Amino acid sequence: MGIDLGGTSIKLGLLRGDELIAREQISTANCNEPSDAFRQAREFATQTLSANGASFDDLEAVGLAMAGVIDEATATLMETANLQSWHGIGFHQELARVFEKPVAVINDANAAALGESSYGEHRTDSLSFLTLGTGIGGGIIVGGRAINGSHGCGGEIGHVTIEHGPDARSCGCGRFGHLEAYAGAAGIVQTATELLDQTDQPSALRDFDTLTPESISIAADNGDEIAIETIRRTAVHLGRAIAMLSHIADPSVVLLGGAVTFGGNQSKTGRAFLKTIHEEAVRLSLVQTGSKLKIDFASLGNDAGMLGAAQHARQTARQADLNRSEERHHEN
Ligand SMILES: [Zn+2]
Repeated sequence: MGIDLGGTSIKLGLLRGDELIAREQISTANCNEPSDAFRQAREFATQTLSANGASFDDLEAVGLAMAGVIDEATATLMETANLQSWHGIGFHQELARVFEKPVAVINDANAAALGESSYGEHRTDSLSFLTLGTGIGGGIIVGGRAINGSHGCGGEIGHVTIEHGPDARSCGCGRFGHLEAYAGAAGIVQTATELLDQTDQPSALRDFDTLTPESISIAADNGDEIAIETIRRTAVHLGRAIAMLSHIADPSVVLLGGAVTFGGNQSKTGRAFLKTIHEEAVRLSLVQTGSKLKIDFASLGNDAGMLGAAQHARQTARQADLNRSEERHHEN
């Protein structure tokens, strides 16, 4: 079972093999504390399993995806913008207490990466994933497993440094020159504002009181040169970060998901965005990785985190089984 805990909604999904047999969504606002959400999730699992000729005993493991920097052992939320009142709670312990099953907790961007690598259009055990939105999240899959790292910061691609020097922008994390300060939603708007300030060139963007990535995307669709240049620069910054990634993890596929994809493959603006990212990544990469690197938009949308959470739970439970049987083998 996968649970994707978001600031507004909680997505639940039950998998049998690779098949998603049932799904549900509940409102986060209706849950005063995590155990409320987990009890509703357990109820959903019990009902769905009995409707499918199985029982709660058949549930193998439960995975939880959530935003923030996560200590994987206790799953205490250490840093996140949302869910402030849920800080300091040991989610791993709560989840295990409510479900009485093997449980595992994973950062939501890592979960989305794992979901795409296991169930998406580009299935591979070597994949990196960037979520583009207010912030930039990232997940790196190596050998089919998400890299959480020693401090819960593995795959935090949004905080790689792509600009140095005195003019480097400040990032939400307090450091300077990070990718998120350029390719996160506020960074994209800042790029557009700077371009508008540098010229008298007419632009539809001048008519807006508040610019957003959406308004910039629409203006670019309509041929607005400043909007197109804003998106091109955003793509160049992402290409730089992906080139770094290609020399660290050497993924076979890099996927882009989240709310800010400029229409994705369905739009000319989205396709131009992707093409520039790819060109910049190839330009900066060793020929062996750059020439073969696939970069595309993600395919699972909002389901990726929930599916990845389920996959992470399955992997973690099976690894624990393996470790136990190895221990028994040694004892004998
Ligand atoms: Zn940062």
